[in-house]
Amino acid sequence: MLRRIVAPNSSLMTLTGTNTYLIGQSEIALIDPGPNLKSHLHAIRAAIGDARLTKILVTHSHIDHTELTHEIKKLTDATVYAHHKQRSLLSYDEQDRRGSGIDPTFVCDKFIDDDDIIQSDEGWEIRVIWTPGHLEDHVCFSFTNGRALLTGDHIMNGSTSVISPPFGNMTDFIASLKKLQGRGESVLYPGHGGPIDDPQAMIQFQIEHRLEREEQILSALRGHTLSPQELVTKIYIDLPPPLKPLATKTVLAHLIDLMNRGLVKTTTMPHLHAKYFCPLA
Ligand SMILES: [Zn+2]
Repeated sequence: MLRRIVAPNSSLMTLTGTNTYLIGQSEIALIDPGPNLKSHLHAIRAAIGDARLTKILVTHSHIDHTELTHEIKKLTDATVYAHHKQRSLLSYDEQDRRGSGIDPTFVCDKFIDDDDIIQSDEGWEIRVIWTPGHLEDHVCFSFTNGRALLTGDHIMNGSTSVISPPFGNMTDFIASLKKLQGRGESVLYPGHGGPIDDPQAMIQFQIEHRLEREEQILSALRGHTLSPQELVTKIYIDLPPPLKPLATKTVLAHLIDLMNRGLVKTTTMPHLHAKYFCPLA
């Protein structure tokens, strides 16, 4: 049994709000506690009722997914699971992490890895699929009994994921989308937005969307030397102004990926204000 509780933190970034999922009936795993809001905590407690919450799993350590972990943990003593790359994020400066939406207070009890299986006494099973890109510690969870794939921010419903270097990596992100091709789940349950009924069509759309962006960037750079911001102005038509800084970061992630493949160059170090060009143009 899988249930969704939508947190009341809707915004341009979080869409209708962060989704918290509960798996199980008498023994429960909670996926992504969500933001630290009293009403959300109450909704989670009401949904759990008399059942036993034994596991808290997070798809990645962005604050809108993890902030409530501590409060729930206080009530239940459940074990908190996150991918082991969560530890390597800690090597970055705290201010940079905070600025990028990473939860600096998040504490995990048990690290998980690709293909690990988390089981309950009541018979449900959750398989870990490491999907770095949006963040290095990002994982999807396959709830095998329900033929459901919980995709966190790797695949959202209603918007595409922001990839913000240095924490986000476009090369990894596209590889992680390809990793989900050919899987057998029948529904995707994203971290934001409602369920997606045709997983493989959605995954294909996401890959094509990124390849299309890549092509737009390359053609804009043919014969021109441009900054990520100038590229956003050229490419992202009709984008609401508050989303422009995020689009600029995603364009930078594309540029770094294209540089690694020798298709784009810059005259300085790659950063948000550098200028980029096509060496082959
Ligand atoms: Zn996120």
